[in-house]
Amino acid sequence: MLKLINRLRRNSMQLINKNYIKNKLKDRMGNCKKCGKCCKGCKHLNKKTNLCKTYKNRPFYCHKEFPIDKLDQKIFNIKNCGYHFKK
Ligand code: SF4
Ligand code: SF4
Repeated sequence: MLKLINRLRRNSMQLINKNYIKNKLKDRMGNCKKCGKCCKGCKHLNKKTNLCKTYKNRPFYCHKEFPIDKLDQKIFNIKNCGYHFKK
């Protein structure tokens, strides 16, 4: 449920402001460790490699550009993400 609300937050803010996600990503630092934790439960996750099997053609429900902020990480309960945020 929280993930659904979070998706609505991302989508509605992006509709209001076309640069919402782009601006959020300016505060993001670090690199993806390809741990696959943020994709847990998705049928497209390759559990052996922790990589997405359909990365170039991701479905509408994919949380693209994850994480856009600390709230994203909190809602997905990610503790050791390779990304962190200035604020
Ligand atoms: S949790 Fe963070 S480091 Fe792990 S795959 Fe997702 S974005 Fe990358
Ligand atoms: S579709 Fe999205 S959530 Fe699913 S494995 Fe690929 S990147 Fe992760």
